[in-house]
Amino acid sequence: MKKHNFSAGPAILPKSVMAKAAESCIEFNGIGMSILEISHRSKPFEAVMTEALSLSKELVGAGDDFESMFISGGASSQFFMAPMNLLNEDETAAYTNTGTWADNAIKEGKVFGNINVVASSKDSNYNFIPKGFDIPSDSKYLHLTSNNTIFGTQIQTWPDTNVPIVCDMSSDIFSRPLPIERFGMIYAGAQKNMGPAGTTLVLVRKDMLGKVSRKLPSMLDYRVHIKGGSMYNTPPAFPIYVSLLTMQWIKEQGGVAAMQIKNEDKASILYNEIDANPLFRGSTAVEDRSRMNVCFLAAHDEAETMLSDLAKANGVDGIKGHRSVGGFRASIYNAMEKESVQVLVDLMREVGAKLG
Ligand code: PMP
Repeated sequence: MKKHNFSAGPAILPKSVMAKAAESCIEFNGIGMSILEISHRSKPFEAVMTEALSLSKELVGAGDDFESMFISGGASSQFFMAPMNLLNEDETAAYTNTGTWADNAIKEGKVFGNINVVASSKDSNYNFIPKGFDIPSDSKYLHLTSNNTIFGTQIQTWPDTNVPIVCDMSSDIFSRPLPIERFGMIYAGAQKNMGPAGTTLVLVRKDMLGKVSRKLPSMLDYRVHIKGGSMYNTPPAFPIYVSLLTMQWIKEQGGVAAMQIKNEDKASILYNEIDANPLFRGSTAVEDRSRMNVCFLAAHDEAETMLSDLAKANGVDGIKGHRSVGGFRASIYNAMEKESVQVLVDLMREVGAKLG
């Protein structure tokens, strides 16, 4: 049975990427060895790293004023590495609290400086993105989470500010064009739109660095990773290689602008059904709906059980909602085909026809 992978992460990757990655595990680019067994200092792997670093910048439209890095420790490590590298103890950064991950970023930020939570949707279980809040102009940066993976909300309009934005894009990196000039830093764990778990992409504007007075351990200092070309220590070679394959695939498809068109189309198919079908309803504010993680609730237990059972019987995998929201969450990242979204919509219609 064909499987339709709606998992929130680690998540679906393009079939062609996985085929090439599998082939490279046996023999990489005709060199008689596997990608898994070659030195990270070898010419073939150095070429992978060089292209991955430059393509990551190219895809988001970042120029020479940005540096790119692959760092270990998950996106969660960026919750503390960002303030450690960008914020002095007596300085203030503005943060929005739009979900569990944003909340974690705030907690870690407080270890290193003053964190001013300028807006929050915590009191309504994060079902909307706050807008129109004040961002004091002396904030060192504004930390945002572009897409809230658990709650299914996504920033559709970037806040109007001259303060550089530091953004956790773990679950929507490369899904749409960005006003790159607004950003001081972007980071994203690989395991949703980019590759397997094990590496995190960090893009930082050069002028954000070198301004903190604290001492930093080498492994936690962005400048050390930049200087070492993301090879200060042994990098997770395979996740970076697969991330490169995915980035090449995105470029071949027409880049992030093409991804956006596909993603808007897939999301609207699903949200249209949610809005039309009386047995289901969206769990977030309509204007803040995520194009990556579509969260919805069933009208009653019978409808919830029926859709879960139909999903199981039809190869639709990973649609159970996060425990803090309940209901369903269909993650429809870049690699998700429209056909799979249609399969899910057809099952929702079947529930509607049987129980409606
Ligand atoms: N930020 C967001 C938006 C996430 O969805 C997640 C979960 N993958 C994280 C941060 C934490 O990422 P990691 O597990 O790589 O630390």
